[in-house]
Amino acid sequence: MKIDKAEAIVTGAARGLGRYFALALAREGARVVAADINPAGLRSLKAEAAGLPGSLTVAAVDITNESEVVSFVDAAARELTGLNILLNNAGILRDGALVAPEQESVRRLPLMLWSKVVDVNLTGQFLMAREVASKMLERKAQGGVIVNISSLARAGNVGQSSYSASKAGLDACTRTWALELAHYGIRVGGVAPGVIDTPILEEISEEALEALVHGIPLGRIGTPDEVWQAVRFILVCEFFTGRTIEVDGGARMG
Ligand code: NAD
Repeated sequence: MKIDKAEAIVTGAARGLGRYFALALAREGARVVAADINPAGLRSLKAEAAGLPGSLTVAAVDITNESEVVSFVDAAARELTGLNILLNNAGILRDGALVAPEQESVRRLPLMLWSKVVDVNLTGQFLMAREVASKMLERKAQGGVIVNISSLARAGNVGQSSYSASKAGLDACTRTWALELAHYGIRVGGVAPGVIDTPILEEISEEALEALVHGIPLGRIGTPDEVWQAVRFILVCEFFTGRTIEVDGGARMG
């Protein structure tokens, strides 16, 4: 795939990794439709993208809402007649232990928190992939690439049962969709970042972040550009499908 000819949807593009990916694609000449639930972030992204060699338009979409996703992808595919990339990136963290002692009682992880994370990180990604893959199939000849953004936490992590489960589930989808779609020329890959410098880290306490950095052999957190390099590899390497690349400073070496 040639990035300067690519036509891409990027979710969770108002800030953090998604914003970086959307700008990186447009900088290389791609046509991008950027989706998020944060309209203010989308407006500033659009302003930042002005003057880049590619094009970038924005859309307010909640990826957990099926009818919104269906009409968003319909509209995006009318704009991007050669739609051939989905960066399935939007994700959230709502950490909490399964149970924890609390004075006289036991605090239990609320179902609402569990469901919210699974809705965005797994069901939302499923809805986006289903709709975009269906557009790719309708256009037969050209195929495409879907990149799912997973996480180091897919292996399980203290206080992150919902997040870990959603990301492990997404990895299973990466393999499943890669097998199902290879026949149609659609590749599906994953990237599992470790701790990366984006606003999502505001959800993690300072002590927890320190402990995380302590466990990184390279001794620092990563940058959005380092994750983009892995995403870009999946886009351009035509023999890559069905695997998830870890970009985590060696955090899972041990
Ligand atoms: P972030 O919080 O900075 O950005 C996430 C974006 O997703 C936000 O703009 C948010 O508005 C959007 N979003 C949330 N819910 C949405 C919904 N329902 N519909 C549409 N958009 C929605 O996070 P980030 O660090 O940029 O993370 C991007 C992805 O990378 C996530 O999937 C995250 O799990 C993953 N990740 C991040 C790290 C890290 O350390 N930053 C590590 C591993 C994995």
